[in-house]
Amino acid sequence: MAIQSFHPPKRVLMGPGPSDVSERVLQALARPTIGHLDPLFVAMMDEVKQLLQYALQTKNPMTLPISAPGSAGMEACFVNLVEPGDKVIVCQNGVFGGRMKENVERAGGIAVMIEDAWGTAVDPNKVAEAFKKNPDAKIFAFVHAETSTGALSDARTLAQIAKQHNALVIMDCVTSVGGTPVLLDEWQIDAAYSGTQKCLSAPPGLSPVSFSQRALDVIKTRKHKVQSWFLDMNLIMGYWGTGKRAYHHTAPINNLYGLHESLVMLQNESLEKAWQRHRDHHLALRAGIEAMGLQFIVKEQDRLPQLNAVTIPDGVDEAAVRTQLLNDHNLEIGAGLGALAGKIWRIGLMGTSSSMWHVEYCLNALDKVLGKAGAKIKTGVAVDSAKAAFGKLAKAS
Ligand SMILES: *Cc1c(COP(=O)(O)O)cnc(C)c1O
Repeated sequence: MAIQSFHPPKRVLMGPGPSDVSERVLQALARPTIGHLDPLFVAMMDEVKQLLQYALQTKNPMTLPISAPGSAGMEACFVNLVEPGDKVIVCQNGVFGGRMKENVERAGGIAVMIEDAWGTAVDPNKVAEAFKKNPDAKIFAFVHAETSTGALSDARTLAQIAKQHNALVIMDCVTSVGGTPVLLDEWQIDAAYSGTQKCLSAPPGLSPVSFSQRALDVIKTRKHKVQSWFLDMNLIMGYWGTGKRAYHHTAPINNLYGLHESLVMLQNESLEKAWQRHRDHHLALRAGIEAMGLQFIVKEQDRLPQLNAVTIPDGVDEAAVRTQLLNDHNLEIGAGLGALAGKIWRIGLMGTSSSMWHVEYCLNALDKVLGKAGAKIKTGVAVDSAKAAFGKLAKAS
């Protein structure tokens, strides 16, 4: 029998990404493919750059999507800025800081690690200490929103410390962009990378990056060629730059339509409203989760609204619960990673998935599945608690 076309089910995506892609973005993806040097396509690329400057709050001309997922954006920042022998101070408070270390070392750099407990924010005192011990560090790197734990770090303060020591700052803002404030210029971030499938709610496969003038100067005056041909920003600028466009690689045309549409939606909503929406729905979910008897692992002031890391009730098979949520409710939530595997669930309220409909859907499904599993939770109260909390927020604003 011949293999048939693939028709995925319609899931509700409330894990650590991808998040739900709206009908409007899905329709944009299905528009006619045109050439990657077609003048109309090139004009759309300029709009994507402009919309990304807004999303990242930067005037950096070198703000564009790398044609690959967030991990490639990460790699682009490190391979372009790190030269063999360079010292890089890297913060690790979850999975993604570990990948930064790996990137530094593969680029021939020396990683000086600052460790913080998983589920906590990066401690600025440790950063100041590390710079005192390593005044020759050229780069400082940290994850703004740790998707593996749900912790948000204080980017402004961390970047300030690095600037006092004249270091370049690389920031992972894959999960923060569109969900919580990301202010590249105000915070003086030199290189940042993000993803499309988290709070921007476009399909995965593109990684917005942005480089400051200072970062560009470093990239242009490198002693060694960037070891990655594909991610060498000197070459990518030939295609994405301001001058005449030349072929570098064939852009993922339709995926860029999708990103363009999601960024237009963000622009129309406004960043401030999007941040507020993520906060409000987090607070509603939180009321439901806590009414049920589950807890958050991150202390309140460091919590990410778009990624909720919650405890698993005693005696419950967490993987079986996720399987049942998927099979019976078409609902995807995330498992714990690394040190937190088996200990938490990660509930994403990212982009399109940050709505009251999603909050209620998730709480109702969890209530049913956990109730059936005989978990020691309070059943039948979560949805009403969430609605009440949301109602209060609406009245207050
Ligand atoms: C998802 C994520 C990445 C990696 O993005 P991919 O698109 O999966 O490659 C990097 N950093 C953080 C903080 C993330 O959440």
